[in-house]
Amino acid sequence: MSTQTQLELNAAQAAIYTRSNIRRAFQDFDDTEVSGIYLRGDDCLVVHRDGSEQAYNRELIKVAYTNYTHRLKDFFSYLGPNYRGPSVWHNNAYVLFKGWNYSHALGHLTSNAKLQAHWADKFIHVSDTNKVLHLLQSDQTDIGHLVAPDGLRIPNRPIDFDSDMEADQSAPVVDKPWCSCGSYQRQLSNVSDFASEIEGFKPWCIHMTWFNKYRELLCKRTEARNASPSGTPEKCVSWWYAPPADHISNGRFVLLYTNSGAQAPLSHWRTYKPKDVFTQHDAWDLFFNMCDVGYVPFPGTALPQLKSAVKK
Ligand SMILES: [Zn+2]
Repeated sequence: MSTQTQLELNAAQAAIYTRSNIRRAFQDFDDTEVSGIYLRGDDCLVVHRDGSEQAYNRELIKVAYTNYTHRLKDFFSYLGPNYRGPSVWHNNAYVLFKGWNYSHALGHLTSNAKLQAHWADKFIHVSDTNKVLHLLQSDQTDIGHLVAPDGLRIPNRPIDFDSDMEADQSAPVVDKPWCSCGSYQRQLSNVSDFASEIEGFKPWCIHMTWFNKYRELLCKRTEARNASPSGTPEKCVSWWYAPPADHISNGRFVLLYTNSGAQAPLSHWRTYKPKDVFTQHDAWDLFFNMCDVGYVPFPGTALPQLKSAVKK
């Protein structure tokens, strides 16, 4: 094993051995006054401005990095206007919006949320990948990403001899999950460096994790729906979400349930666990649990007879 200190980190190592990931792996890590991060054998060395150095186990930092890129963000993180999920685009890809409307009580007033509302139904009419990407993520916009969890289909197009090599390298690959976000693209462009650092490495990002979970939920919901003999489910749950009024609090997630069908009048609905306070972080588990016991979730905004039940 090498005892020599590696002074230059490659692109993959620079993404893995960051202060943030070291802190994720080691809670007592002091990230102030850091003058350099280096590698030596199994260790990641952190050198402080006063000359002191500390060694951290590389393996644990890699695990922290992998967990972080695979983490599941809350249910509202990637919903567009009116709780819109990923929208089908061309080439096996979907437009995935960032949850600007749900991050803050005034989130719907942000320019990004307004752009989403303006473009939501129009992306399907724009078939040029670069144009869509420019509208979604650029210096001026940050409204979402193009995601192809089942692999991007490359359209037949004439070979462009003027395009540079770099653009060719980042060209999407069929049959592999693909995302336009910076994190995924960085992994894709440096995939061999990542693979020599992390065994069995496959590029991945939080958008893919969220997308797969969302798709799983849609399947569960369809199952719950189809299980009712009449075709119209009687066991229903309606839900509301009020985003946080500041950046430190959580939002509030409220559920009503009934055994009399979605159209039942307000008097037939009960608040689910009225003494508990639910937030955006409870939403995935609650949705999956409901479907498991046969309840079909509906956004409360789609059921006008319940309008008076939940105060804004
Ligand atoms: Zn992504």
